[in-house]
Amino acid sequence: MAHPDFDNSFVRELQGFYVEWKGAQVPDPNVLRLNRPLADELGLDADYLETREGAEELVGMRIPDGGSSVAMAYAGHQFGGFSPQLGDGRALLIGEFLDTNGNRRDLHLKGSGKTPFSRGGDGKAVLGPVLREYLMGEAMHALGIPTTRALAASTTGEPVLRQNGPEQGAVLARVAASHLRVGTFQFFAARGDHARVKQLADYAIARHYPDIEGAENRYLELFRQVQARQAALIAQWVHVGFVHGVMNTDNMTISGETIDYGPCAFIDAYSPDAVFSSIDRQGRYAFGNQPNLAQWNLARFAETLVLLINPDDQDAAIAELMQVLEEFPALYQQHWLDGMRKKLGLFTARDEDLDLANDLHSLMQGAGSDYTRTFRALSRVAGGDASALDGIVIAEGTADWSSRYLHRLSHDEDNFARPDAMDAVNPIYIPRNHKVEEALSAASDGDMAPFDTLLQVLSDPFREQDGAEAFALPAPDGFGPYTTFC
Ligand code: AMP
Ligand code: MG
Ligand code: MG
Repeated sequence: MAHPDFDNSFVRELQGFYVEWKGAQVPDPNVLRLNRPLADELGLDADYLETREGAEELVGMRIPDGGSSVAMAYAGHQFGGFSPQLGDGRALLIGEFLDTNGNRRDLHLKGSGKTPFSRGGDGKAVLGPVLREYLMGEAMHALGIPTTRALAASTTGEPVLRQNGPEQGAVLARVAASHLRVGTFQFFAARGDHARVKQLADYAIARHYPDIEGAENRYLELFRQVQARQAALIAQWVHVGFVHGVMNTDNMTISGETIDYGPCAFIDAYSPDAVFSSIDRQGRYAFGNQPNLAQWNLARFAETLVLLINPDDQDAAIAELMQVLEEFPALYQQHWLDGMRKKLGLFTARDEDLDLANDLHSLMQGAGSDYTRTFRALSRVAGGDASALDGIVIAEGTADWSSRYLHRLSHDEDNFARPDAMDAVNPIYIPRNHKVEEALSAASDGDMAPFDTLLQVLSDPFREQDGAEAFALPAPDGFGPYTTFC
């Protein structure tokens, strides 16, 4: 990497939690897109990364000096069913280092070839999904949402067979606060290896929650802290209309970052039932189910901690965990409402705010209104343009709601900064499904211009950009219902 001071604590401290493994040799590694601002933030030499040697490191066929190269073990509940062994089946942890802000970051590759965890898979990734993860992660980051980020998307020069025929092989290099997942705990808990669960919990606390190291009941505290971060995270997703699509426990981080962008998408028309993933046939991970499913996942996390919390009295440990877990709905609701107040430009809290927010959602749902455009228009309503929702929320009752809203605002002090504050939390630009598809389909034909333009627009989502009007609109009617594949 020309070369950070790798400090691979996971590999050093958690032997038995991974398998040392090398990435596959590929014919023609090329860095297709490098995230230069991120490389700078990480303290990496971007020019080096674009050399042949750099490309070889970014696809996993060359281990950087001081780096590791390991496949991490994890388990997970996938759509409710438990798989005791998942793990990095097409991914490798390439090491950790401190970024220029002193934060510890993992460098991880996806698509680097088969590993002992591959099961029936080919260990590969293809260009479309790799670029999709790149776009989505960068969009989420620009929206201020904790997320893993793409450092680079590289092609391998190798065709990879998928349902619709051969596609271009690709590798995503991504960085994360860590790759510890709920499923990492489940892997060892399911084997009854509680010494390792404890080791992992201690490691996770030291790495992500150092403030609780001295806490009296540190493992219960760990659970509380992870829950707090997840409640905040899911509320942030919902505030921008994000549907993760595959919230399996192996895709839930201990750090509180969004991870594993597969069949994710943003809603256009507001609907709690919105589902995009072709494999989510029951709507388990529908837009409005995400808080419930986060709590379900946290319950699975809690199960792994029972023996750590009280090995002598499991019932007591379970009761303690349950007490914390039951706080999730209220915690989530508080985050949601706090964020809604910001989106509505309410600087004080009043009892009626919840109804006001809920009623706007009912209107949007009834009218099939675009979620992003509705919220973005509210700063104009707040600024005195009573007709700003016209053409966006086409429902009887919209005018009534607007006047209630203006009345509610009159309880807050006059605030000339309000419209700007609202525009700073209600994005104009989100990754619109049709724009994402357009970018990925052009990329597969060798034209990266739409991808670059979209990435540029999404990197500054709150500020109106010249010539970007089309990126602020929902898909044209002809686009039809949207389905994602992972
Ligand atoms: P994901 O759906 O990407 O979160 O992955 C779920 C599990 O399937 C993880 O253990 C992955 O490593 C594994 N996996 C997904 N795709 C492949 C593949 N092409 N080859 C091997 N393993 C895979
Ligand atoms: Mg090259
Ligand atoms: Mg995953």
